[in-house]
Amino acid sequence: MSGRLARRLRGAVALVVFAAYGLVAPAASSAEPPKVVLLTGGDPMQAAVLMQTQAIRNVLNEKLPLGAETFLDSVDGHRFSVDLLTPELFALLRKKYEGQHIDLVIAIGNYAAEFARAHHDAIWPDTPVIVTSVPEAWLKMSGAFPSTFVLIPYRIEIDKTLAIARRLQPGATRLIVIGGSAVLDKHFSDEIVEAAQTGDRRWSAIERWEGLSVPELRARLAKLDKRDSAVLYGTQYLDRDGRRYFPFEVVNKIAGDAPVPIYGWYANYLIQGAAAGAVYDLEENGRMTGMIAARMLSGDKSRHSAMSGPALPARCMANIAVLKRLGISERSLGPDCKWLNAPLPPYREYWKEIAVILFVIGAQAFTIFAMLRQRRERRAAEREAATRRADLTRASRIATVGELSASIAHEVGQPLGAILSNVDAADLMMQSAGHSDPELQEILSDVRRDALRANDVIVRLRTLLQKQAITFTPVVFDAVLERATALVRPEARRRGIVLRTVFGTQDAEVLADQVQLQQVLLNLSINAMDAMEDAEQKDRELVISTRFADDGVELVVADRGTGIAEENFDRLFEAFYTTKERGTGLGLSIVRSIAEAHRGSVSARSRTGKGTEFILWLPLAPAMPEPQRRRVSEEASV
Ligand code: ADP
Repeated sequence: MSGRLARRLRGAVALVVFAAYGLVAPAASSAEPPKVVLLTGGDPMQAAVLMQTQAIRNVLNEKLPLGAETFLDSVDGHRFSVDLLTPELFALLRKKYEGQHIDLVIAIGNYAAEFARAHHDAIWPDTPVIVTSVPEAWLKMSGAFPSTFVLIPYRIEIDKTLAIARRLQPGATRLIVIGGSAVLDKHFSDEIVEAAQTGDRRWSAIERWEGLSVPELRARLAKLDKRDSAVLYGTQYLDRDGRRYFPFEVVNKIAGDAPVPIYGWYANYLIQGAAAGAVYDLEENGRMTGMIAARMLSGDKSRHSAMSGPALPARCMANIAVLKRLGISERSLGPDCKWLNAPLPPYREYWKEIAVILFVIGAQAFTIFAMLRQRRERRAAEREAATRRADLTRASRIATVGELSASIAHEVGQPLGAILSNVDAADLMMQSAGHSDPELQEILSDVRRDALRANDVIVRLRTLLQKQAITFTPVVFDAVLERATALVRPEARRRGIVLRTVFGTQDAEVLADQVQLQQVLLNLSINAMDAMEDAEQKDRELVISTRFADDGVELVVADRGTGIAEENFDRLFEAFYTTKERGTGLGLSIVRSIAEAHRGSVSARSRTGKGTEFILWLPLAPAMPEPQRRRVSEEASV
């Protein structure tokens, strides 16, 4: 409801109610809901009637604390002869309401109003009556109503509907008036013709199509042209052949495919396919009647004589869908006109399509996302595979070098043996020949010593490179490592590095493979010495120590070398991670796999000040005797 109309409605209600207060004995005091008779002029199920009775009932139930008990009776005067049936109807209703206390009667429409005026005293004595939904013009003609009646008329503003037709069809000069053969139908057709003739006299031809059957109406309408013809429909309760209709049904049957707009003044005509009109809103009238009734039933002591409220004004209403079908623009009607079937905003009209599109877009996005993810994973896998391939190539190259070293060691071992034999032979020959040249003697012993040293290196290298199955035997941790330091010592000496050993686990035994344990020490020591390559003399110290820790023993190899940047700690034990020009990046990864094979662990940490220490932890061999001795050996070998 528009704001202006709502205000008018409130004003009208206030006025009528003010006048009506006191007509009804208040029912509020009793615990029973007030009893209200709704007497309709038309068929109670006719849309025009139903809209009003429903609105009245809703308002009464909303506004009254106990609601209202309503009874519905119909005169059905549009389609049946009231004169003929009134005696029986009167008898029926009198019997029906005999002994019943009725608080209010609401007569809806002309026939009901007439019936109530004639018979209310006999059927509902002393009960106030509201007469509603009667045209103002009819009310004026139909004579006086008793003083206890409250009248709520509506105004049929035919001239306003004609003005709307003129605005929508500015070129039309022919007006066709459709109406039925019933008395009321004829009355409305007369009114239309009169309004068209007394108005702006634009209509050069006014035709009455009276009482035509629906097929006839359709056939005639089909021949019209919207450029010159406008059609105004009043009511058709009856055609000339005696067929009965509800007026809105006729609209429904003729408006659907008519090539011209059909105008009318009931909102339900528009719902059925009429184009526009200055509309009397039935529902609004019902609500207004309900509000007046509710106020009356709530009770007020003041008493007034008969009154008539201001008629409910008609207002412009247009069916946008129909105008669109006919290719007529609704713009000329202005902003105050109420739109019916106005197109929904696109998102509401096409919400299904939009939902499907969104779903498709969502599904596509999901697929694209999944594919992108798959591609990213595939690329990562490819990169990983490429790295693995490169690693493998390097590994096999390194393995070949290992094999080669083994055979070189073997090949070099033989000539070394020969050198030693020959040195011994030369020594013997010199002694037997009586040559005792001390210088020659010294040269021979140098050759022997160096050959022996070289042989020693070869032997150790062979031991390391021998392909042996790992054998875990209980070994004395310190003893095995001490033997391995013998391999480190010459190298340390060569590099000018002080080697300090602190063996602190005495006879502690671990389950280990000796060769692998020695390899750990060698790898860690070589790395430590590499790290001190450029260190100052005071820092060139390699400390190898052992100690007890957490149910196991630890080997600590510490240096004062370059140290390791924090971010590189994580990568140290990765295979092929190296920062050295000629590094293999295998040393520490071998150390880690050996540690893990021995159920131990290896870790690295920076030393305070400078350098790094690597710690290998191994569990003690089961049933190990208590450590009894502690030996500290310290030596410098420069
Ligand atoms: P490689 O010695 O062939 O480089 P490793 O696996 O033995 O391979 O060592 C990997 C890397 O770890 C070395 O290149 C070096 O950068 C670093 N590293 C190992 N030990 C030390 C250490 N004691 N001090 C500083 N850096 C070290």
